[in-house]
Amino acid sequence: MADNKVILKTEHLSRYFGALKATNDVSLEIYDGEVHAIIGPNGAGKSTLMDLIVNRTAPNEGRVFFEGREITHMAPYKIANMGLCKCFQISKLFSNLTCFENIQIALIKKHGKVYDMRPRRADYLKDEVMQVLESVGMGGNADETAALLSYGDQRRLEIAITLAMEPKVLMLDEPTAGVARAEGYEIMEMIRDLAHERGFTVIFIEHDMQIVFNYSDRISVLDHGALIATDTPERIHENEFVQNAYFGGGTEDE
Ligand code: ADP
Ligand code: MG
Repeated sequence: MADNKVILKTEHLSRYFGALKATNDVSLEIYDGEVHAIIGPNGAGKSTLMDLIVNRTAPNEGRVFFEGREITHMAPYKIANMGLCKCFQISKLFSNLTCFENIQIALIKKHGKVYDMRPRRADYLKDEVMQVLESVGMGGNADETAALLSYGDQRRLEIAITLAMEPKVLMLDEPTAGVARAEGYEIMEMIRDLAHERGFTVIFIEHDMQIVFNYSDRISVLDHGALIATDTPERIHENEFVQNAYFGGGTEDE
């Protein structure tokens, strides 16, 4: 991150729903290796911006570049295969399979193998599966059924499934939503540490300002679809809009 190399860029990205500008002329640069938070009030367009980046939603205007290559209209699975991966929640888990099997399937997909229904060799890719589980602190949960995990562990498993793809950029829409605050901290700290250790980039949407200001290298603020600031946590904290929107004009409490 030292040289602020840009890994992902949007140029004048806009998305309209009827008269509503859910995304309004957003030009954003994400640096290679940074942990970048996207914040803004409910309905500010955070999720829409993420969906536009991975082309789950098509823009009305503007372009998206990943590693210098335009990906605006590329199929989402191709974008994921290039290493720009959005973590999808719950729906992506095979809830009646174990944690081990969920990661095993993700790795089989990554290796481009066809997943067939013949009895799988239980130890297939075992070392790799265990490495992925251990990276999110779930080595001890390998044999547990996904559906029976705590909510926090389900979030970890979803993140692990995305990590199995070895993303260059990991995108997370509220990774700590629904999780108790202490565990939310743990999850975000784990993501930040993994990103900095392995050198991948994280873009995350988060409503808990304590988590945002503790774990991001830079923060972007959206309001009514428009990007109103991108800066370091210190500078964003001084931003008047952020002060008023989140800190009631001065106090740190939400
Ligand atoms: P955020 O994630 O910041 O809460 P969203 O990106 O989900 O905000 O939504 C931004 C705005 O766009 C909201 O006003 C929302 O109601 C609207 N919106 C999002 N998706 C759609 C859709 N598919 N159709 C119509 N309006 C939408
Ligand atoms: Mg959202």
